[in-house]
Amino acid sequence: MPGFEVFGEEEKKQIYDVLETGVLFRYEFGEQRKGIHKVLEFERDFAKYCGAGYAQAVTSGTAALKVAMAALGVGPGDEVITQGFTFVATWEAILDIGAIPVFTEVDETLNMDPEDLKKKITDKTRCIIPVHMLGAMARIEEIVEIAASRDIAVLEDTAQAAGGTINGRHLGTFGDCGTFSFDSVKTMTTGEGGMIITSDEKMWRNMSEYHDHGHDHVVNPGGRGGEGRSFIGFNYRMMELQGAMGIAQLAKLNAMIESQRANKKRLKAAAAKIPGVKFRTLVDEQGDTATFFAFMLENREQCRKVNAVLGDNGAGAINFSENSWHFYPSWEHLHNGSTLAASGWPFAEPGGKRRVVYDPELLPESADILSRTLVFPVSIKMSDEQIDTICSALGKAAQAI
Ligand SMILES: *Cc1c(COP(=O)(O)O)cnc(C)c1O
Repeated sequence: MPGFEVFGEEEKKQIYDVLETGVLFRYEFGEQRKGIHKVLEFERDFAKYCGAGYAQAVTSGTAALKVAMAALGVGPGDEVITQGFTFVATWEAILDIGAIPVFTEVDETLNMDPEDLKKKITDKTRCIIPVHMLGAMARIEEIVEIAASRDIAVLEDTAQAAGGTINGRHLGTFGDCGTFSFDSVKTMTTGEGGMIITSDEKMWRNMSEYHDHGHDHVVNPGGRGGEGRSFIGFNYRMMELQGAMGIAQLAKLNAMIESQRANKKRLKAAAAKIPGVKFRTLVDEQGDTATFFAFMLENREQCRKVNAVLGDNGAGAINFSENSWHFYPSWEHLHNGSTLAASGWPFAEPGGKRRVVYDPELLPESADILSRTLVFPVSIKMSDEQIDTICSALGKAAQAI
């Protein structure tokens, strides 16, 4: 999964370009920057790579979600639907913008279940955020169709699936916009960083201004100081060192994905020998970024047994129903409404009335699926020895059940 495995001369050269000018800010600094605009160049490269009209760089994948929702007009009084299997960042951003997160089940794609989505839409639904979890695609075409028929925006949280595609079309380009994360453990990384892509020029301009305190960006990059403001914003600006890293990492993304696919193929062949095993449903296997390998057993008991054998043989897998950062029932701070705000916001209104209460038992289908799913992270430079260890542990598990 992590792009740090392939840091090399290309990243050094890019960073060196920035240090030579001494300009870390993406805007201004006229002559001193010697024509170098790394963040801008990264945005253009990224938009082109994805086949999107525009890209807006920001400080993180979480900020990308927030900036995108701001541009979609999301705020208090709105509901935003996402899936109960995602990283906490997805719903943190929804609460932070003042809206209420509503959670759907996941199906065997390990992503949003479109049937459950239909049931969760209300008059208050302003936006739907399917997440392309663990490197692979949600049923995004069905989700976009459901949303379009009700005139609701779709934001694709593509933090874990940069470079993923369906029939050659990039994830993040199906909805109104797509967001990405380049944090330290993502497939391509800038240390911290994020991106939003869209083909809507107006939306991009609004994101560009919002992420930069509302500075008028009629000319982008614009002059600063004398220009006006159309609305309030915030600061989510990416810096030049991150842009420089992004240029070098994006150029390696396809090669990283290729290696992961080759490694994943070997793990899959070994796991296929387990009686009754099923693999995660992939809408388009060709477009999987292969950052993870997920497979399902028949039930929870069998899953535990298999993972015990894997563990005894030096290759324990992740069971996300036991991972507290990615699955709804274990988010105790969400269920308890824990917040630093004295008023209880965002879980309570000023005055103390709860805006929303979550039932930890809300998602039984997801709980069932995740309780019998095992996951191996797939990295770029897995050694033969590492792969052999996992494959031989899978072989032992196949014999044990
Ligand atoms: C990593 C991640 C984010 C947040 O990205 P950061 O850059 O770490 O803020 C959002 N959504 C998902 C699904 C993620 O995996």
